[in-house]
Amino acid sequence: MKIVFATGNPHKLKEIKEIAGDTDIEFVLPAEGFNPVENGSTFEENSFIKAKEAARVSGMMSLADDSGLCVEALDGGPGIYSARYAETPQKRIDKLLNTLTPFKDRRAKFVCAMTLVDSEGNKIFSATGECHGEIAKKQSGTGGFGYDPVFIVENSGKTMAELSENEKNLISHRGRALREVLKYLSSL
Ligand code: IMP
Repeated sequence: MKIVFATGNPHKLKEIKEIAGDTDIEFVLPAEGFNPVENGSTFEENSFIKAKEAARVSGMMSLADDSGLCVEALDGGPGIYSARYAETPQKRIDKLLNTLTPFKDRRAKFVCAMTLVDSEGNKIFSATGECHGEIAKKQSGTGGFGYDPVFIVENSGKTMAELSENEKNLISHRGRALREVLKYLSSL
């Protein structure tokens, strides 16, 4: 089965393909013209907006992920603004570490909302995955992407960027949400 994965982020596509592993689902990128306006106020709304836009340009069943980092001391921020928190991935990490300097409470979670729509953009399934942990005092590790080098995974003592790809996919917010979607698809 071919499904459009509504993203412009190559890291996300790579993870999705690895998590779907040996299922018979082939994820492909949206057709040209994919330009979602992410003006929702929740991860769920934004994932629906992206999935609908992918179905509109591609005319195929589409899946979208909207994800981000929610930090307790920042009242859940940067949350849906994680990709826009600062200009570059490194600047986003630096800003986060600087902002959290005065805080003792460094609890955080990654959240991933996924929405699956049919070829006409009607919602057919949605799922959310979370991964809990805390923000490190300094970055370490080279794997993954985004905030991975400063996110210490609960009960592991390692940052997300120090895990292997396989280890990350097993416990990540994206892995958890996608496995729900795959379960739904296999029940069709
Ligand atoms: P989106 O493309 O609007 O969903 O933005 C997601 C943003 O959240 C990314 O650009 C990253 O900054 C952050 N993010 C989401 N998932 C991850 C992850 O697995 N690791 C690290 N950062 C992530």
